[in-house]
Amino acid sequence: MDGSPSSASGERTKITVTCPTCGAAAPWRLNPHRPFCSLTCRLVDLGVWLDEGYRIPADERGYVP
Ligand SMILES: [Zn+2]
Repeated sequence: MDGSPSSASGERTKITVTCPTCGAAAPWRLNPHRPFCSLTCRLVDLGVWLDEGYRIPADERGYVP
């Protein structure tokens, strides 16, 4: 048999992305939290954005409805 390799690696190329929160390599496929590596990093990033979003219009002090 002619077992010539079609490519360098038989396995599929794993696509990974860099997590914007912690900088770890996160899998792209089958990752519901992409581009984050985990739900924690996703929430952290959301928290940061919300925190900045709330800080910008935070001009009123002692706002009690
Ligand atoms: Zn992460």
